[in-house]
Amino acid sequence: MKKKTAIRSRFAAALAALLAVAVFVSAGAAGASAVAANGRADVLRSPAPLILVDAGHGGEDGGASGPGGLLEKELNLDIAMRLRDVLRLMGFRVRMTRETDVSLHTGEGKRKRSDLQTRLDAINADDVDLCVSVHQNSYAGKGTARGAQVFCAPNGEESRAFAESVQSCLKALRSENDRGVKRAGSSVFILNNAENPAILVECGFLSDPLDALYLSKPANRAEIAFAVAKGVAEGFRQQGNE
Ligand SMILES: [Zn+2]
Repeated sequence: MKKKTAIRSRFAAALAALLAVAVFVSAGAAGASAVAANGRADVLRSPAPLILVDAGHGGEDGGASGPGGLLEKELNLDIAMRLRDVLRLMGFRVRMTRETDVSLHTGEGKRKRSDLQTRLDAINADDVDLCVSVHQNSYAGKGTARGAQVFCAPNGEESRAFAESVQSCLKALRSENDRGVKRAGSSVFILNNAENPAILVECGFLSDPLDALYLSKPANRAEIAFAVAKGVAEGFRQQGNE
């Protein structure tokens, strides 16, 4: 993992250089062209981190459901595609587990298990620097539960740091997202068996009428994608500064 850490540090440095360029250019400062040239050269030399974006469920597996026929698999895919676009705009490389409404099982055996194994294999690929899995929550107990919550893989400090960073950006977006990061247990197969840094974002509760209404609006899903991307970028920047 040392190689990956070095790559991340270079990327964070390049990102900082680009931000500096943006400040100089927007201010019209003299000498901006020299800074710009250095910034661009750094970026060209550095392979950007590769983010695996996983839209949970799909195909025959709709996941949780909410009022008015809201289906978790559709919200997951919509937010994941938006997240893909924002991360690419930020300069990250992005790989998707799915970009259409399909289950990822292979063969006809235990289809749910096979679907999850396909996702886990994608997470554990040698070149993946971080996986962000997108889901929606549901609560069947007394009262109601509300707000986004980020889970981290129990495989080290990096996963927790990314989860904290993303949770903090989601909290800044919406006060209801004031939940603590949770370490995934054995019930979350893909995180529990992840070897690379991995987080799972539960964007809200489809069982809660207010959350469901919030999640049903495309503009809000765009905001969620942006907040998650910002949290990812912050996570890489923090690691680069260590
Ligand atoms: Zn789910």
